[in-house]
Amino acid sequence: MKSLAKRLQVRRGRTRLADWKTDSTPECKGKDQANQQLAENLARIDELQYRLHAEARQSLLLVLQGMDTSGKDGLIRKVLTVFNPQGCKVWSFKVPTLEEAAHDFLWRIHRAAPATGEVAVFNRSHYEDVLVVRVHELVAPSVWKPRYHAINEFERQLHQRGTRVLKFFLHISREEQRERLLARLDDPLKRWKFSDADLVERRSWRSYQRAYEEALARCSPAHARWHVIPADRKWYRDFAVSQIVADTLEQMNPRIPKARLAVRNLRSRLAR
Ligand code: ADP
Repeated sequence: MKSLAKRLQVRRGRTRLADWKTDSTPECKGKDQANQQLAENLARIDELQYRLHAEARQSLLLVLQGMDTSGKDGLIRKVLTVFNPQGCKVWSFKVPTLEEAAHDFLWRIHRAAPATGEVAVFNRSHYEDVLVVRVHELVAPSVWKPRYHAINEFERQLHQRGTRVLKFFLHISREEQRERLLARLDDPLKRWKFSDADLVERRSWRSYQRAYEEALARCSPAHARWHVIPADRKWYRDFAVSQIVADTLEQMNPRIPKARLAVRNLRSRLAR
């Protein structure tokens, strides 16, 4: 199923978000098949991460973006926990702290990039600096506009030193967001997740879609493409991301280094 990534990748001339369905299920015949495939993908990822760690030459960076309730947290909990925590770190990027804000916008991001053999997951990312910052005019256009270029340069550097950058935009409809926000209000166990801020952001839906369109269009070179994941159906979202991660790790083909050991000699020393 190598074609799934290609079908969901952003390429030139295909960046109007309205053209991407939020409830479609490419390369998938339904929920049962998706769940079965998900289990297989998780097994593949588990084995491939082991090899990535042993090889210690390459690394993998997963960037997650999406509107509130698009499922970034759910995806991490249901799929990305497959990664052995010894070789994987999850970073959540919130409103910059005073210290972070006193540096350039990539400072906090670069520190979180994965070391060789490791996986890093960004729950929100450097893209916030051309999304929320632009929508709410937190800085002047003359400050955020050059950031697309800076982001491309940064990701190119990561790629050149062996980091695969995989970017996922979890694409939900405005109606689906409404359902999910209502579900949070209905369920006492989910109510803590509800925030007034979500309603404020929801009012800027169109501006966010435009900001996403520009970020996706301008920052999707062949080595670090955005994937638009139809995310109204959670089971499809989980299947699709697991599939692309597993296929990418397979392409990276991490190899367990050959150990040069005098096995007989070592065995005999262990006999004593
Ligand atoms: P989340 O929604 O990710 O679960 P929060 O509810 O704490 O977590 O939201 C984090 C907030 O931080 C988001 O509104 C996001 O837009 C904001 N944020 C992240 N990065 C930046 C940034 N560079 N500048 C301003 N706000 C940011």
